[in-house]
This record gives sequence, C-alpha cells and structure tokens, in this order.
Amino acid sequence: MANIVAIVGRPNVGKSTLFNRLIEKRKAIMDDESGVTRDRHYGYAEWTGKHFTVIDTGGYVTGSEDKFESEIRHQVELALEEATVILFMVDSFAGLTDLDKDFAKVLRTSNKPVYLVANKADTTERIHMASEFYALGMGEIYPISSASGSGTGELLDQVVKNFDEGEENPEEGIPRIAILGRPNVGKSSFLNALLGKERTIVTDEAGTTRDSINTHYKLYGKDFILTDTAGIRKKSKVKEDIEFYSVLRSIQALQDSDVCIFIVDAERGLEAQDMSIINLALKYRKGIMIMVNKWDLIEKENNTAEKYRKAILQKLGQLDYIPIIFTSVVKKQRIFQAIEKAIEIYDNRTSKISTSKLNDAILPEIEHNPPPAIKGKYIKIKYITQLSAQTPAFAFFCNLPQYIKAPYERFLENKIRKHFNLEGVPIRLFFRKK
Ligand code: GDP
Ligand code: GDP
Repeated sequence: MANIVAIVGRPNVGKSTLFNRLIEKRKAIMDDESGVTRDRHYGYAEWTGKHFTVIDTGGYVTGSEDKFESEIRHQVELALEEATVILFMVDSFAGLTDLDKDFAKVLRTSNKPVYLVANKADTTERIHMASEFYALGMGEIYPISSASGSGTGELLDQVVKNFDEGEENPEEGIPRIAILGRPNVGKSSFLNALLGKERTIVTDEAGTTRDSINTHYKLYGKDFILTDTAGIRKKSKVKEDIEFYSVLRSIQALQDSDVCIFIVDAERGLEAQDMSIINLALKYRKGIMIMVNKWDLIEKENNTAEKYRKAILQKLGQLDYIPIIFTSVVKKQRIFQAIEKAIEIYDNRTSKISTSKLNDAILPEIEHNPPPAIKGKYIKIKYITQLSAQTPAFAFFCNLPQYIKAPYERFLENKIRKHFNLEGVPIRLFFRKK
C-alpha cells in the first residue's frame, strides 16, 4: 500500500505552510537548476523512520472565482479516493466557517482516516479556541502551528500509525516496474505493444486502487510485474482532474515499484512535472530510467539522439547515471530493450558487491587522489564496505569522517560507478569513524 497524506481545507488556512514544513527540505541538485521546487504540490516526507508522500491539494485548484468552491470540494473528493490519510485543516484564528462545514460534510463520507488539524494555534489561548471545531463532528482536534511547527510532532505520531513498517514484497525477487509519464506520452500504447507479443500473463492481481493494475508477465523467460497508470486519461474529461489523478497514480505506482520507467514525449522533452516526479523517485531511491518515446516524429540529422541525450542529462544535473532510451511504440522500435533495461536496473539495484572487490577497486583510486587535507589534518580512508540496506549504500571507514566534503563524496560515487554497474540506481555513501 502506498503511503500518501493529503492536506485538504479551504484557502488560506495554512496548507502549503504545513506542506513545506513536512517535505524534506534537502533539495536535490536538479531542483536548483530547473526551479521546479517553487510550485511543487507533492513531496517526500519521513517521520520516525516511516516514509510517505504529502500532497497539498490546494495547489491543484485553478478554477475561476465563481466556481472556486465547487472545485475545491471536487479536489477533496479525488483526494479522498486516492490518499491513505487525510489532514483536514481549519484556521483557529479565523474560526469555524461555512466552507469548513461543507468540507466536513464531504469528509465524513470517507472511510479513510481523517485528522482535524486546527492550524495557527500559535498561543495557548488559540489552542483553547480551537475547541469550537468540535462542532464539525470530526472527533479529536489536533491544534498545531504550521508556522512554528508546534503540535506537528503529536499529529505525525498519529498519522504514521496508519503506515506499515517496511512492507514485505509478496513476490520477492520479481522486479516491479512502474510505467510513468504525463498523459499522452504513450503509456497505454507501450503496454499494448508489449501485450501484443508472445507472452504469458502469470497472474492478474487487481491493483489497490481502481486503475493502477499490477500484472505479472513472463516475456522471453524474464519475470516482471508492471504497474500501469495508463487508465487515468480515460477516467475524466476535465484537464485539472487528469493532472491531479495522474500525479496521485504516479506516486502510488512509484512507491510500490522497484524501477520506474519515465516516458517522455520526444517532441516535448523533459518537463517540470517529469522532473519533480523523478525527484520523488530519487528520494525513495527507486531504480530510474527515461524512455524518450515518439522518436519517429523527430527529424534526424547527425547524432540527433546523442544531442538529445546530452540535453536531457544537462537538465537532470548530476544524474548522468540514469539511462535514456529512444523508442517508437508505434513502430515497435526498442520497446523490448526498454523492459530489458529496467530489469537490468533491478539487478544492479539488488546486487551486493563484496568488500574485497570494493576495496581492490576503490582504495587504489583513493590513494591516487586522496581527500584534501583540512586544517593541516590528513584524512585516511581505511576500507569500504557495502551496507546491508535495501538499496545500495556504502560505508567508508576513516579517521575524520566529518572532513569529507561534497565534491570528494561525488568523486567517490563516480569511482564506484566506474568500477561497478550501478546504472539507473541512486546510491548512498556514509562516512564512519574507525
Ligand atoms: P493555504 O492557502 O491553505 O495553502 O495557506 P498558506 O499556507 O498559504 O497560508 C495562508 C496564510 O496563513 C499565510 O499568510 C501564512 O503565513 C499564514 N500561516 C500559515 N500557518 C500559520 C500558523 O501556524 N500561524 C500563523 N499565525 N499564521 C500562519
Ligand atoms: P498515454 O496517455 O500515456 O497512455 O498515451 P497513449 O498510449 O494513449 O498515446 C497517446 C497518443 O500518442 C496516441 O494517439 C498514440 O497513438 C500516440 N503514440 C504513442 N506512442 C507513439 C509513438 O511512438 N509514436 C507516435 N508517432 N505516436 C505515438
């Protein structure tokens, strides 16, 4: 089950303030370059070791003044269907309003856990004032101050109780591949092209939500489970809904997968929305690849693919380990290579590198190019080992771990990637005292 927390409530109660407080602030490098963080409405959060995605539904309301009310109510209905937990936010300074009552009416129909959050409870007096919201009949009130953070810990303690601890994969060892991308990039066509070929569907397990379907395939002797978000477009005719659905479904599929194939439309390139979903996949440390589809529509000259690849890598910043594959689903070009690449990424992500191999490869690199001395102190890295984590993580044991700086960390990451195949796989490095 995906862990998704949706923040709903009327405008100006402080939804985006709470959102910004909850999502992990440490920005990926690419965020700075593309400037996409500013208008992101979903992000990655962690509380007491549990991971989840937060959505600020307010960010999706774009309606004109007169249809504003019905539109927010509508977004709430969508959130109710899709999220795991709902935070219903009210403003303890402004007090109870008619719009709050409207929201409560919709929210009471939910069978999902709903937490009534009285924001702007900055003072003891305001915390007491929040009791007027009992009139909404939504049970316990969580008074918080999004601005200062007070009360948010108590709230999150309750919220994360709804999430499983590191959930067990019932089909351990079989790659779970999510097919992601904006509407119209060719997700359904891709799946149909795959299905059209020689294949065996092993099981057809219904997805946890209506359209996100996990299907177990066997293709040319390889087992994999595809999570398909393709049904989304057909569900609705409203543009904002499509956007909202597609984001929620993508997040669900992403959380449940091992490897994500991000399909982009060759004519449009990598868009801000793609970047922020890729960013989320990085936070969850999923395997990642990019499939540039509709390649048939691009007029080719010399090195067109290479130039295109460079342009994408530039947008991605330092993520040049993400493979890019150029496909045409309608011409059936390279669609099986795409799946094979995803399976390869799965293998890279689950591979364990022995300590001796690591040290034999990396220690000479370090000797050749040691960490720069800081304040006259020499940093000595003694040995390296891969940690027994779910995704590749490496510990460097050294005398002064605190003196290893980001550029040298990048150097070490590049060397690990040079010697070992970790294509498509985010890795972590830790520096420990020895
Ligand atoms: P949204 O429309 O629900 O996303 O609301 P915003 O997050 O944009 O906040 C609306 C206004 O309330 C802004 O001026 C915030 O600075 C202010 N605000 C948000 N949280 C708090 C809080 O905990 N205390 C106080 N006093 N003001 C807050
Ligand atoms: P989805 O919304 O991501 O599932 O996208 P669809 O699979 O429904 O495709 C959207 C449109 O793009 C359809 O008209 C497809 O025929 C078209 N399309 C998909 N893949 C390709 C491709 O490789 N080349 C071209 N030219 N059109 C494609």
